[in-house]
Amino acid sequence: MTLEEACIAKGMRMTDQRRIIARVLGDANDHPDTEEVYRRASAIDDRISISTVYRTVALFEDAGIVERHDFRDGRARYEPAPDQHHDHLIDVTNGEVVEFHDAEIEALQEAIARKHGYRLVDHRLELYAVPLAKDGDD
Ligand SMILES: [Zn+2]
Repeated sequence: MTLEEACIAKGMRMTDQRRIIARVLGDANDHPDTEEVYRRASAIDDRISISTVYRTVALFEDAGIVERHDFRDGRARYEPAPDQHHDHLIDVTNGEVVEFHDAEIEALQEAIARKHGYRLVDHRLELYAVPLAKDGDD
C-alpha cells in the first residue's frame, strides 16, 4: 500500500498538496525532517508552504501513517510506518541512518520485559555510532 492509499484507507481527504507530501514521504528512505520534506514537495509544487507541510506531516503522524523519530540532532525525522519492524543506527558524524533488524535483540527485549513481569508491546532502539577507522587500528 502506498502512503496515499494508507491515507485514503484512514478516511483522510486527499488534496493535491497532501498527495504530493504523501508521495515525497513514501519515496524517501533517508528519514527526512520536515524542512527536507518541504524542500522536496515544493520542488514539485511551489505553492506548498512550510506550514502546510508541518500540518500535513502531523496529521499523517496522528493517523499512524508515518512514524516520527528523534535521532538527537534537534529535528524530528519521519518515515512511513514500516510493515516490518526495524531499529536504527545513527552515524553521529553525518546523521546518516542505517536500518537493521536483529532477531536476537528482539528476543532479548521480550525476555527482559517478561523477567520484570511484562509483555512487551513496543520498543525503540537507537544506536549512535561513528564509523570504524578504515585501517583497523581503532
Ligand atoms: Zn527507519
